[in-house]
Amino acid sequence: MKTIGLIGGMSYSSTISYYEKLNSITNNLYDDLTTPKIYLSSLNFKEIEMLQHNNEWSKLGSILNEEAKYLEQLGVDILALCTNTMHKLSNEMMDSVSLEFVHIAEATAEKISDEKFRSPALLATKFTMEEDFYKDKLKKLGLNVVIPNEQQRDTLHKIIYDELCFNNINESSRDIFREIVDSVKSLEADSVILGCTEVGLLLNQDNSSLPVFDTVQIHCEKIIYSAKN
Ligand code: GLU
Repeated sequence: MKTIGLIGGMSYSSTISYYEKLNSITNNLYDDLTTPKIYLSSLNFKEIEMLQHNNEWSKLGSILNEEAKYLEQLGVDILALCTNTMHKLSNEMMDSVSLEFVHIAEATAEKISDEKFRSPALLATKFTMEEDFYKDKLKKLGLNVVIPNEQQRDTLHKIIYDELCFNNINESSRDIFREIVDSVKSLEADSVILGCTEVGLLLNQDNSSLPVFDTVQIHCEKIIYSAKN
């Protein structure tokens, strides 16, 4: 298998899911003890989160670019960024880096389109829901993206940063996420994208009233598909 480079720690709670899934998907694929060689660059999320909310995106782009270059020097073949939000900076991150990059939104768009869904609701951070960098990847494959209302977006953002990024799982927050899924049905959503890598800690196919597309699962499957010789 090709060597995988991950830039994670945004937050640590979802990077745990990446590590678990990348290994278990590979075990199942080969039906033996095969696991991929992985180099993980785990960043200090306090610094990242402060720069995001202070709107210092160019500094964040430089940080990601530096990490991508380290991983390239270490000899990784494939690069993945373990957060949807930070894909806002994927071009800056890949500047002068010649590694194969597995883009989370492109993988998600392909999967939704292959499964013939048309109007996914996007549950994510406000950066991901409100800006174009992520929705554009979905629209490019003809998908009609449904976004929760402003109050719901504020609530989702707060639960992600104040609870899920600390790996705190609250049943009351799970109920709020489920209610938001119920409400986007009235906006003609036919499915829901867990568009933040921590949302799978609360929502899954068993507790959602709409079909679920978990970006961590989809991303990990695509990474392993790309890494397989
Ligand atoms: N992991 C999150 C995401 O997938 C949010 C944390 C971050 O800002 O990177 O968007």
